[in-house]
Amino acid sequence: MGLFKKSNQIEEASNTIVEELSKKISQSGMPSSVKELAMKELELLSKMNPSTAEYTITLTYIEYLVSLPWNVKTSDNLNLERAERILNERHYGLNDVKNRILEHLAVKILSSNRNPRILIVDDEDITRKNLEHVLKKENYEVVTTKNGKEAFEILDKQEFEIVLTDIKMEGLNGFAVLEKVKAKYPSTKVIMITAYAAVDSAVEAIKRGAFHYIAKPFKIEEVKLAINKAVEDRLTSISTKGSILCFAGPPGTGKTSIGKSIADALGRKFARISLGGIKDEAEIRGHRRTYAGAKPGRIIEEIRRTGVANPVLMLDEIDKICQDFKGDPASALLEALDPEQNYAFIDHYLDVPFDLSGVMFIVTANIPDNIQHALLDRMEVIEFSGYTEEEKKNIAIRHLIPKQITEQGLTELPPEFSEEAILKIIQEYTREAGIRNLERMIATICRKIATEVVRENKPKNSIKITPELVEKYLGPRRYFFEVTDAKNRVGVVTGLVWTETGGDIIFIEAAKMRGKRELILTGSLGNVMKESAQAALSYIRSNSSFFGIPEDTFDAFDIHIHIPQGAILKDGPSAGATIAMALISLFTNRPARRDVAVTGELTLSGRILPVGGIKEKILAAKRAGVKTAIVPYRNKVDIENLPEDFKKEVEIVFMEKIEDIVDKVLI
Ligand code: ADP
Repeated sequence: MGLFKKSNQIEEASNTIVEELSKKISQSGMPSSVKELAMKELELLSKMNPSTAEYTITLTYIEYLVSLPWNVKTSDNLNLERAERILNERHYGLNDVKNRILEHLAVKILSSNRNPRILIVDDEDITRKNLEHVLKKENYEVVTTKNGKEAFEILDKQEFEIVLTDIKMEGLNGFAVLEKVKAKYPSTKVIMITAYAAVDSAVEAIKRGAFHYIAKPFKIEEVKLAINKAVEDRLTSISTKGSILCFAGPPGTGKTSIGKSIADALGRKFARISLGGIKDEAEIRGHRRTYAGAKPGRIIEEIRRTGVANPVLMLDEIDKICQDFKGDPASALLEALDPEQNYAFIDHYLDVPFDLSGVMFIVTANIPDNIQHALLDRMEVIEFSGYTEEEKKNIAIRHLIPKQITEQGLTELPPEFSEEAILKIIQEYTREAGIRNLERMIATICRKIATEVVRENKPKNSIKITPELVEKYLGPRRYFFEVTDAKNRVGVVTGLVWTETGGDIIFIEAAKMRGKRELILTGSLGNVMKESAQAALSYIRSNSSFFGIPEDTFDAFDIHIHIPQGAILKDGPSAGATIAMALISLFTNRPARRDVAVTGELTLSGRILPVGGIKEKILAAKRAGVKTAIVPYRNKVDIENLPEDFKKEVEIVFMEKIEDIVDKVLI
């Protein structure tokens, strides 16, 4: 009897669950095809024994479906001045970046101010005329046509925000119109009109990307509502249309924080997903439900967490996705990002399409060249470069210090940082393109002051941070101007490289010893770099008389080339000219000037090819105290495009051939 009662209770409980879920499904705002599926799952659930694993899996699935923000959207705040104010107040400098972002928004605002255009395709005169009449009254621009063929011609000439098309027509039917529109104007919303008996084909149309369907006979109010919603929906997706913003640059240069500001300026929610090291496609697209412990991918999960279908979603480190055996994460991403497919993104766990077209994706990368081409093609790359000392100082004064003072609870007694102290932190305690460590150092100082204030238990006068105090709080200096402090030596030449964390300097060392013409390379050199070294050696050997090196010198020696810091180089070949100079220095016995840095790719015929990352390299040269930077002549444009203060303190020399610079580098 007891047992019977208990199972009765379980049954009741499970009935209540089913009822509640059914209510949630109808209120969830799911597209009707998803609703149907959810109801089917619910029916299955109601027949299952609650103690089975299937029951739990199905229950979790339905609960997940109803918890998604199918049609919850924040409405965009399209005010350019406000956006500009937010960007300027929160971020110092970065003018190019800000302008590009504002242009992006301006386009969106322009399109939102125009009266939406609607194309009506219907072979029934009355329906066409009726719709035209009503919609014109609502201030839409309306064009009508009675068949698919004419619709194609009109669409070839002009874009419409919305297309209303009958499904059943002679010749080219509504599906053909839908496909044409989707192919040509992905953000145009298509509403299908269908006879009430043909609802199946309408569902099919939704699967193929139609925005909505209306069954005849329809109420005019219903049409107006659908159109209003389509217009609104289209607007939220305009900023994603065509191009995805890709912020590229070294860490700590403000990429993430600007992304957050864009979200705030638009009034959207913001979320981040880190893609670094993702190997498995399932992390993006989810696991199939048949799989124990299956869960949705990160994109869908973040959307659920934000509770809206149109957040700004930042995908970090897209250049670090691994190509591996477990599926292809990059192609899954492509589907999510591509405006031509993402209105029906399929997460394996959900197994029904979810419309991502309202999401504004911003991706970040350290080095855009490492992004897969198919992805890169769809992006508008905005470069963030490292900051100069002057910029770092200003950012510290205006943003980092006030922020840390608040965070460390020092607002009552804010310490005052002198400019010299800030410069000391920048030069002696950090060596970076961005400002992450600078912020960390400032935080450390503020925290130590806070501790002192608490320990001594009496409010002191506000502390003035001098260079001496910096040393007291942060300890002995960590970085030196490597090149000004180092001696000029034979066989050691300064080079400039471009790495993921910005520019850097390296010292290329060459040594010779008795041996049998072997070339030894060490210092975690990549293949490209090894080849550059071979090429440099061959070039010097074949032109040895020009450099004043007796030809038979090479026969008696092994040569060893080493790069001490083992920096992870992005552009391996750019060390070619530096290696060549190290070898010439070695064989002519002339010391190389440490404060002269060389970057350039060397061909076998001795020509110098251009290199990447010039801006970062020049910044790195300045940080290290380099006086002269020698760059390929063909990088002249890059140098000319640099802001003036990048070029202060460093003399820039252009080279076409390695012969041009021998006397510049060697003493
Ligand atoms: P990234 O995403 O490029 O690694 P972040 O956006 O995380 O960089 O920036 C690191 C820190 O530096 C943040 O606290 C950010 O607010 C600050 N920051 C970076 N650039 C600027 C800038 N131009 N103006 C003000 N603060 C900045």
